[in-house]
Amino acid sequence: TPAAEKPPLEVLLCSPRGFCAGVVRAVDTVERALALYGPPVYVRHEIVHNRYVVESLKAKGAVFVEELDEIPDTDAPVVFSAHGVPKAVPEAAAKRNFFALDATCPLVSKVHREAEIHHKRGREIVLIGHAGHPEVEGTMGQLPPGAMTLVETVADVERLTPRDPSKLAYVTQTTLSIDDCTQIIAALTRRFPEIVAPHKEDICYATTNRQEAVKSVAPRVDALIVVGAPNSSNSKRLQEVAERAGCPHAQLVQRAGEIDWTKLAGIRRLGLTAGASAPEVIVEEIIDAFAERYAVTVEAVSGATESMFFPLPRQLRELDKAAD
Ligand code: SF4
Repeated sequence: TPAAEKPPLEVLLCSPRGFCAGVVRAVDTVERALALYGPPVYVRHEIVHNRYVVESLKAKGAVFVEELDEIPDTDAPVVFSAHGVPKAVPEAAAKRNFFALDATCPLVSKVHREAEIHHKRGREIVLIGHAGHPEVEGTMGQLPPGAMTLVETVADVERLTPRDPSKLAYVTQTTLSIDDCTQIIAALTRRFPEIVAPHKEDICYATTNRQEAVKSVAPRVDALIVVGAPNSSNSKRLQEVAERAGCPHAQLVQRAGEIDWTKLAGIRRLGLTAGASAPEVIVEEIIDAFAERYAVTVEAVSGATESMFFPLPRQLRELDKAAD
C-alpha cells in the first residue's frame, strides 16, 4: 500500500519492557558456557520462557532437556534455568558429577532462602503462585513435602487449615499480578493476623515496573500487544493488567506472524510491551509488521528507570579471572 493510503496508527511503546536482569544473566550464562567449553551445553528446562531465545541458543549448541535423566554421562556444563529448581535437582547433578551452572535468578533464590528460614523457625509456609509453573515447583521443592501449601486464589485462602495459625508465613512467586496478589495477601492477613510477611515483597522489580508501565498506557489505547510466550507468567499478567486497566483488547504474541489482525480493525492507537523473557528484536519485528499496514508513529512512554544487574554464576566469573 502506498504510504499516503495507509491509515495512521500511533504506537505507544511501554517502558520498561522486555528483558530483565535475571533473564540477561540466564541467557549470558548459556552463551558464556558455550563460548568457554564449546557445545554441547545442557540446559534443564527452557532457560527463559521464549521460543526465539531457546531456538537461537539451540543453533549455537545448547541442548534443552526437561529432566537430568535425559542427559548422558558427560563433563559438559549443565545449566539450571532462571526459574529455579527443586533441591533434588542440584543433588542429583552432584551425584552424577555434572558440572552444574545455576542460572536461577537471584531474586528467585532470595525467595528460596526466605522459605528455608521460615521452615527452620518452625513456621508453616503459604506460597502464593500458579500451579505447574516451574518457579513454583522449584520453590516448593526447597522444603520437604507438606512444609509449604500453594494458594492461587482468595478462595484457596478461605480453605486453608494450618496446623497452628500463630506459626504461619507466606512467600510468593516473583511474577504475579500485583493486584491479585494484594487481594490474596489481604485475605491471608484477615484470616491469620499473625502471618509473617516477606521483609521486602517477593514480586520482583521487573514484574512491578512492566505492570505499572502497562497500567499507564492501557487506558489511552484501543488495543495492546504483549510480546511474550503463553507459558511466560509475567507476560500473561501484562495481558491481564492491560485489559483490567481499560484497554478493550490485549493480545499475547510470540512473533509478528501470530498477530490476529481481525481483532485490530479500526484501531488508531496501539500499546506495545514485552514480557521479561522477550527480546527487543521481536518488538521491532512487530513495529515493522504494523508499519506495513499503517502509517506508524512511535511514542515511547517512560515509567521507572532500571539499573539492576546480576553478575554471572561464580564458576564462570572465576574462569574469566583466570583467563585475564
Ligand atoms: Fe528475576 Fe524478576 Fe526477571 Fe524473574 S522476572 S528472572 S524474578 S528479575
